[in-house]
Formats: sequence, C-alpha cells, structure tokens
Amino acid sequence: MGLASLAMCLSLAVIWLTGVVSLRFFLNEVETRSLATLEVQSAVLEKLLDKFRLMAPLMARSPDVYQTLVTKDPILGRQVAAIAAGMGGAQEVWFLDDAGKLVASSLENAKERTEPDLHAVPTAFRQAVQGQLGRELLIGSPVNTSSYVFASGVRSGNRFAGALAIKVDLQDVEQAWALSKDPIVAMEEGGRVAVTNVRDWRGLVYSSVQNEKVLTSDPGLLGLTAALPGVTGAPKYLDLPSRLQALGWDVHVLADIGEARQQSGRAMIIALLLCVILWGLLGIAIYRRDELSRRFRRDRIEAVRLERRVRSRTAELRKANTLLEQEVRDRLQAEEDLRRTQAELVQAAKLATLGQMSAALSHEYNQPLAAIRSDAEIADMLIERGRAEEARSNLSKIQKMVARMAEIARTLKGFTRKSGTGVNPVSLNQVIDEALLMVRPQLKQRDILLETDLPEGAVIVKGGRIRLEQVLVNLLSNASDALMDVGKPKIDLGLSRHEGMAILTVADNGSGLDPEVLPHIFDPFFTTKDVGEGLGLGLSITYKIIHDFGGSITVRNRETGGAEFVIQLPLADSETLAAE
Ligand code: ADP
Repeated sequence: MGLASLAMCLSLAVIWLTGVVSLRFFLNEVETRSLATLEVQSAVLEKLLDKFRLMAPLMARSPDVYQTLVTKDPILGRQVAAIAAGMGGAQEVWFLDDAGKLVASSLENAKERTEPDLHAVPTAFRQAVQGQLGRELLIGSPVNTSSYVFASGVRSGNRFAGALAIKVDLQDVEQAWALSKDPIVAMEEGGRVAVTNVRDWRGLVYSSVQNEKVLTSDPGLLGLTAALPGVTGAPKYLDLPSRLQALGWDVHVLADIGEARQQSGRAMIIALLLCVILWGLLGIAIYRRDELSRRFRRDRIEAVRLERRVRSRTAELRKANTLLEQEVRDRLQAEEDLRRTQAELVQAAKLATLGQMSAALSHEYNQPLAAIRSDAEIADMLIERGRAEEARSNLSKIQKMVARMAEIARTLKGFTRKSGTGVNPVSLNQVIDEALLMVRPQLKQRDILLETDLPEGAVIVKGGRIRLEQVLVNLLSNASDALMDVGKPKIDLGLSRHEGMAILTVADNGSGLDPEVLPHIFDPFFTTKDVGEGLGLGLSITYKIIHDFGGSITVRNRETGGAEFVIQLPLADSETLAAE
C-alpha cells in the first residue's frame, strides 16, 4: 500500500475517532446540562402541586365550607370559595354537592358557563367520596393550558355533604419552563402531554415512552418532534426522562443535540485540517530528507570521483615530476658539457689567434735576442780592453730588452691560461695595454698604423681580465687581417664613458663587410678566411663574452670605408670599486 493511501486511511480513522469521541463528549455535556434542567423544572412542577395537595383537605375541614354545602347557598358559597382561592392562590375553588354537581365557584358566573364538562372531575370526586384525596388532571389543548384538580370530601361525622375542589392552573409551570430552550414535556400516566413549553404538543398522546437515555427514533416521539420546525431525518433530540413519583407523571427534557453535532462536526473539520497540515509537514519532511540523502549520495559519488581523479592526477604529476627531474639533470649535464665545450672552444680560439700571431711574436723575440747578442759581444770586447765603464751602457740596454721580453712572455703566459668564470672590476686601460703588447708586433710587421684615443684615468668595468683581453685581441687581429692588401692601413682604437657605460671602439680602413656577411658575422664557425687561417669562432666567442658581462657588441661599415666594432659595457659602480 502506498504511503498516500496509508495516510488517507489513517486520516479517515483519526477523523472518525475524533467525530465519535467529540460527539460523545458534547452529548455528555448536553446531557449533564439537560439533567440539571430536568431536575430544576421537575421540582418547579412538583412544588406547585405539592403546595395545593395539602390545601384541599385543610380547607374541607372548615365549618364554613360544610355550612355552604349543607345550605347550598351559592352566594355564601362563592364568598367562601373566593376567600379560600384568594388565600391559597389557587386558580379556582369549587364546592360540589354530594352528587358531584357544582354548588359554588370562586369565580363569578361559573354556573352560567357553557362548557358542561368544565367542572366535571369524576375521578377526583369519586376518590373524595371514598375519603381519599381526589386528583384529576384537566388536560389542555394547544389553546388552553392544563389544570390539576385536588378534591377532598366535606363531612360532619359520617355525613358526606359534598366535596371541595381546588383547581391549579399549570400555566405558571409552563411559563417557568418557557425559559428553557429545550422542549420539556410532562405526561400523565396515560401518556397525554399535560404540561409543556411547546404549545402545540399540549394534549397530544405520547404512547410509548422510552426510558433509555438514547437518541430516540421512537415513532411516538417522532410524532411529537415532527411538529417542530426543521426536524427531518435523523433524530435531533436526546430524550431525558424523569419520574415524578408523587403524581405518577413522567417529565422529559428533549435536549437539542444539533449543536453538539455541529460542534462534533467542527472538531472533525479541525481534525481534518490538522491531518492535512500534519501530512503536509510530514510530506515536506520526507521530501527534504529524501532530497538531503540524494544530495549526500551525489556528493559522495562526486567526492569519490574527485578522489579518483586526484589519485590519477597525482600519479601523473609524480611521473611528470620524475621526468622533469630527469630532464633537469640532463639539462644541467648538458649545460655543464656546453660550458666545458665552450671553455675548450675559447681556449682553442685563443690558441688559434696566438698561432696566427706567432710569426710576428717570434720576430719580436729574435730581434732583441740578436741585439742582446751583439751588445753582449761589444760589452765583452770593451771589458777586455779595460773600458768597463763604456760596456755598462750596453749592459743596461741588454737589461731593458730582457725585461721587455719577460713582460711579453708573462702576458702570453697569462693569456694562454684557461680563463675563469668569475666577474670582478677590471681596468679596460690595463686590458688595452696587455692586448697591444701581444698584437703590436703583428701590426708593426704589417706596417699598420695604430691610433688610440684613450680617456684620462682608468675606465673600470665588471668582467674578467683575460676574457676581455681575448675580445680585444680578436678584434685587433681581425682588423689587421682585413688590412692585408690596403695602402696606408690604419686601426683606430677608442675608449670613452657614456651614460654609465664604457664604449670601446675598434675601427679599420679595410674593405669593410659584405652585406650578406653582416647577418652571420657573430655565428660560430662563420669565416671568410681560407682553411687553416681562421676557425670562425673569434666573433661568436667575443659576442658571448660581452653578453655574459651584461654588455653589447655591434658592427657597421664606416662611411669612409672599413668596419667598426663598438662594444658597450656597464661601468662598475663606486661601491663595487670601494669593496675591491
Ligand atoms: P675568423 O677570424 O677565424 O674568420 P671571426 O669570427 O673572427 O673568425 O671572423 C669572422 C669573419 O668576419 C671573418 O672571416 C671576416 O670575414 C669577417 N670580419 C671580421 N672582422 C672584420 C673586419 N674588421 N673587416 C672585415 N671583415 C671582418
């Protein structure tokens, strides 16, 4: 069974139960209230009749009454009756003779009344004759109220003179009952309605009285209630009976249960609304719970998926990391290899440059060696001839030449040493001096004029001395090569400072550079020279060295002919110099 049908069944059960219980509750309330009404109103009727019950025998003993009946004097009789009625508060007091005929009444002209049976109370008279308290109900109609008659025999000794009857109007009781909103009915033993607050029922016969306190469907009662407006179908009244023992009457309160039903109906509607609200709330709660659990499941699936992805991604990353580490190792190794190869290339290029200059250098050595020899011979000769003083000038010439040769040797030795990788402040003036020391013999041999334009004071840059010397030697040596077949060959070497940079210029008046050569000039192994004359590494190494020191190198053809190389290097700041 679906949840909805279960809820429906439960709701119906709850509503039904609410109906039953609330109806019982409200009926109980109605019953309690009506029982109270019944008790009070029964007491009103009983008290009224009780009061007159004793009055008749008491008054029958009066000698006046006896006298009236004996004399049958209507005037006297009316007077006595009127006094008795006035004292007791009765509706009417009669005097009946020994045959039961009216002698006198407390009311005027009673005898002339047309209704013949008005004073006929045969039952009560008979009882009075028998010496009992006579009782008789004069049943009313929808128009007239009922009356009750008490009769008592009037005697003197054993002589029965007649009877005294007191008629009590039950209208007062009906007036008292009129205050109750529920119908009240008092029935004499025969079932006729004697007193009621529903006028139309008065005098009707209520044949079958049920003593049960139930909703009655008794045809007799239905016959009665049918006279009430709006009574159709199901019984509308709760019949609560009470017995008046003294009279032998039954008093019924017909409690209206319509309101109790309405209240019970309202309780059922409230129960229905509560059920609707409850099921609504329950439905919302169930929906929310389902939604929550759905979301929770979704989140879990998402989390598991994410976890899986993270795991696979982590594995990928780890693999990539390992590969990267391997690559970094490979690159470091390659870099190391490259550095080593570069260093070897630099060294090779240096040695190649030196090789090219070796003829000039050997000439530079041989010349002073020959001079030294001749000076030594002259000095020897002069000392032999005892002219030692004169030999001294030859010896000092020899000393100077040896010193110069030693300086060249020292410079060459330093130049051929493998250069380091550090960067320190270097004086470009010193670099120029030492480079020229190595290059000058070649220039001299080739009759090349060298013009220098150097500034006052040292120009200090950050770099390596030997590497910068190599740069300068390269440029000068290239210029000297370019001037081979030129008349009046000349090289201009300039050094200046400009906006924090040192500007080093090497220019020649050679043939210059072909436009197709220009883009490749700094490429490694690019050379226009014959095999064995050039490696094509000089300018590429120069380029690398200058860039390593944070500088730049450019080349152009001069307008006057020949090539011009310009190097820019950052000047070492004063702090660095101070530290050095
Ligand atoms: P190499 O001198 O071994 O040929 P370089 O790298 O020093 O190698 O020079 C490359 C080329 O650049 C030279 O072959 C030459 O053609 C050209 N070159 C260099 N300097 C000059 C210059 N001052 N004038 C003309 N051409 C030059």
